[in-house]
Amino acid sequence: MRYQDLVPYDTERPEKWSRICPACKKGVLLVHRNQQTLVISRADACIRCGRRFIYTDIESMWEKDGMTREQVVAEVLRRE
Ligand SMILES: [Zn+2]
Repeated sequence: MRYQDLVPYDTERPEKWSRICPACKKGVLLVHRNQQTLVISRADACIRCGRRFIYTDIESMWEKDGMTREQVVAEVLRRE
């Protein structure tokens, strides 16, 4: 699933990460971060229906978050 295809939960503030769940259409995908590296996780789950998703455009999400792939890799390696 591509993050960029999802509908913003808060339409007035689309820059916020929350998106409407495409499965139940009512729940929200909040976008998770690794607790240690704070890198946005590829996997997410709806807080209402529990359906799990994998973002296939994670690299553009990292970019939007201000991190290049190299920075993500460096951060992950640094914390291991
Ligand atoms: Zn849902």
